Amino acid sequence: MTQLTIGIAGAGLVGRVLALKLLELGHSVTLFEKDSPEAENAAGQVAAGMLAPFAELETAESAIFDTGLRSIQLWPKLLAQLSIPQAFQNQGSLVTAHTADMPELNHFMQQLKCKMTAASEIQSLNQAQIQVLEPDLTHLTHGYFLPLEAQVNAQQFMDVSTRFLQNHPDVEWKPHQTVTEIAKGHIKTAKETVGFDWVFDTRGLGAKADMSDLRGVRGEVFWLDAPDVSLSRPIRLMHPRYRIYIVPRPNHRYVVGATEIESEDLSPMSVRSSLELLSAVYSVHSGFGEARIVKMLTQCRPALKDNLPRIEHATQTTRINGLYRHGYLLAPAVVEQALNELSIFTPSATESDLKRKAI
Ligand SMILES: Cc1cc2nc3c(=O)[nH]c(=O)nc-3n(C[C@H](O)[C@H](O)[C@H](O)COP(=O)(O)OP(=O)(O)OC[C@H]3O[C@@H](n4cnc5c(N)ncnc54)[C@H](O)[C@@H]3O)c2cc1C
Repeated sequence: MTQLTIGIAGAGLVGRVLALKLLELGHSVTLFEKDSPEAENAAGQVAAGMLAPFAELETAESAIFDTGLRSIQLWPKLLAQLSIPQAFQNQGSLVTAHTADMPELNHFMQQLKCKMTAASEIQSLNQAQIQVLEPDLTHLTHGYFLPLEAQVNAQQFMDVSTRFLQNHPDVEWKPHQTVTEIAKGHIKTAKETVGFDWVFDTRGLGAKADMSDLRGVRGEVFWLDAPDVSLSRPIRLMHPRYRIYIVPRPNHRYVVGATEIESEDLSPMSVRSSLELLSAVYSVHSGFGEARIVKMLTQCRPALKDNLPRIEHATQTTRINGLYRHGYLLAPAVVEQALNELSIFTPSATESDLKRKAI
């Protein structure tokens, strides 16, 4: 295939997944990022990285389910490209509730069963069966095991992809460059306008001026270090207000989240959210009482009015946005779909295909 020059505006989650895929295909990539190469304000930095196609079905369309399962197949290859296969874990996840919230759990399961025959994969668990999977969870009496769910260590992915892409000979980084316009193979910043064979807009919420129905949905998470707690897979607790999850990372670190608030407010976590998240986590395991709060983070998820991802193609330009609360679950498959829809990225593409597209 002809080596193409590709410009990517926004080096958050989707920009990185796209860059890795394009490098694998043999193209050269220029990344424009408004912040540092770490993309410290990307939603992808705050995410828990859960790949939860079943659990997300409660609030999502079944299209999310199929795309999510495809991403779960694609993540191991992407992480192998970065030499961090351990950042992918596929030990399933556990959904549970306290006795008082059992109607929430039952309603959740009913919705899943209505939406999906594959929900038959889900296994109902009693107290003893919960303890076989998670010996630390001694007092939860009911739960469900979702064996096909997985997780990506989101922060490790973001850290390692920064270094990988910075050191790659076919990548040019343009940090601290806010993109103001993307069209017809060109990316414009305050400093320059650069032309490429194709450009991608992966600015997440930063694309608001070009996508009228794009909005931010506030989410808050804690990072806790809890040496007295040993959990090996994501635990989701049905709660009347949020679906609270506890996602284990190496060395007894846990990501606990996430609130879901219709607001673009990026101010620090509220007292109410912190009380709800911490009391929920303490109710799952009293060992969290002695945990240390490492970080309290707030970020907004980029969402469109139908809460579904969108791929838009125009002349030499593609926008990928709206990954909402499913960025890790969807990004590899959505990127794959976007590239499959563009004939210049197919193996048989020739120089003349490219010229035709460029007209
Ligand atoms: C609290 C929280 C928890 C989450 N948990 C999960 C989870 O467990 N599982 C899951 O699948 N998803 C989760 N998500 C969702 C996921 O993080 C997002 O869907 C995903 O990050 C969206 O990717 P993106 O690349 O579109 O946006 P981002 O990751 O936000 O990246 C956009 C990038 O574009 C840059 N940018 C913006 N404007 C400009 C500009 N003008 N010029 C140059 N650069 C620009 C930004 O700085 C940023 O780096 C969570 C999100 C939040 C907030």
